[in-house]
Amino acid sequence: MNLVISEKAMERAKNFLPGGVNSPVRAFGAVGGTPPFIVKGKGSHIWDLDNNEYIDFVGSWGPLILGHSYEPVLEAVNETVKNGLSFGAPTLKEVEMAEKLVSIVPNIEMVRMVNSGTEAVMSAIRLARGATGKSKIIKFTGCYHGHSDAMLVSAGSGALTQGEPNSAGVTKGAAEDTLTAEYNNLDSVKQLFDANNGQIAAIIVEPVAANMGVVPPMDGFLQGLRDLCDKNGALLIFDEVITGFRLALGGAQEFFGVRADVVTFGKIIGGGMPVGAYATTREIMQNISPLGSVYQAGTLSGNPVAMAAGLKQLEILEKNQSYYIEINKKAQFIANNLRESAEKHNVNITVNQCGGLICPYFTNENVNSFADTQKSNLEQFKCYFNTMLERGIYLAPSQFEAMFISISHTDEDISAFCTAADEALKTL
Ligand SMILES: *Cc1c(COP(=O)(O)O)cnc(C)c1O
Repeated sequence: MNLVISEKAMERAKNFLPGGVNSPVRAFGAVGGTPPFIVKGKGSHIWDLDNNEYIDFVGSWGPLILGHSYEPVLEAVNETVKNGLSFGAPTLKEVEMAEKLVSIVPNIEMVRMVNSGTEAVMSAIRLARGATGKSKIIKFTGCYHGHSDAMLVSAGSGALTQGEPNSAGVTKGAAEDTLTAEYNNLDSVKQLFDANNGQIAAIIVEPVAANMGVVPPMDGFLQGLRDLCDKNGALLIFDEVITGFRLALGGAQEFFGVRADVVTFGKIIGGGMPVGAYATTREIMQNISPLGSVYQAGTLSGNPVAMAAGLKQLEILEKNQSYYIEINKKAQFIANNLRESAEKHNVNITVNQCGGLICPYFTNENVNSFADTQKSNLEQFKCYFNTMLERGIYLAPSQFEAMFISISHTDEDISAFCTAADEALKTL
């Protein structure tokens, strides 16, 4: 694969952007080589500066569940842009977006729009503390909730890949109210409640952990968290930045049948534009400014162009809920194929799949926790990744990220993936 022009662009980028990028995992640190600079996408395919074509299984890290340059979404954006980009004043699109969210997501009555997943989580945590009058938060090792100070404790995603589970620049004070438990281990949560009686404002969890690869919740785990929160007067926050509108239209609450008190969104909710949101009951949301005393604001929040893109995508998903069945089928097919190829070529593999999220770990042991994810052979992942890229299959450049299936992936794309994966596993 010829990446000459991308290599030059990366050299240029490194002069003025730290590591050449605006988000660390894009730098390809875990897999080596130069990241292709992307110039365009259509459906499931993307093209780079050197005019290489790839089948994209990243989809902008989840938002593009309908594929790149999806016409109705682009049209909605183009229509809105004609009237200007931003007003910092109320617009009808924000109201329509909030109404749509309340109608499709279970157990929420009010919404506040923000500009990223990080911001959604940061604000939801402030709200949980303000509403309960308690200060401590329980999170799970390997779960990523954006880069706000309090959440950069035992975090996943880029923080894992960089080998910096705790970031420099986060003060002890900012981190000391964040307690960490083990994913899929209810006892570890109970112990924290016991040791911090009456002080826990909330548990925050990725209902499917998708920033340490893909680790689905074991039977009873999410319900167990619900019960512990109820027993102890704490709020349950589902960070649905990845699972929202992906596992099901109503997200993980609908998929697993477990109620959350506060839900955070990002990624898919903007249809490719920078959007986040948090949502909860009317009673809890009364605490937010200007109604209540928890302050949270945003100059560009509810931006009409971003709302137009996100809302159009949600409307299309709502009208076509068979998409969820299709995406799950495609993902199952890929997961099974990976297992068969691995067996054929004597490669240790455990493939976790939940809805349109897939992750192959290079180990023969089950992967249900952060500790389990660390058993994957990262050298093998690196070889697998690079062979796939060489064959035009664009994957997230880290073991600790999910592979995202979209409705735009055709049968041909999927068989191209399977052929390439078979060859990649053969070389391990
Ligand atoms: C990506 C992600 C975030 C952060 O969202 P940004 O838009 O990158 O700030 C938060 N939580 C989860 C679960 C995520 O996957």
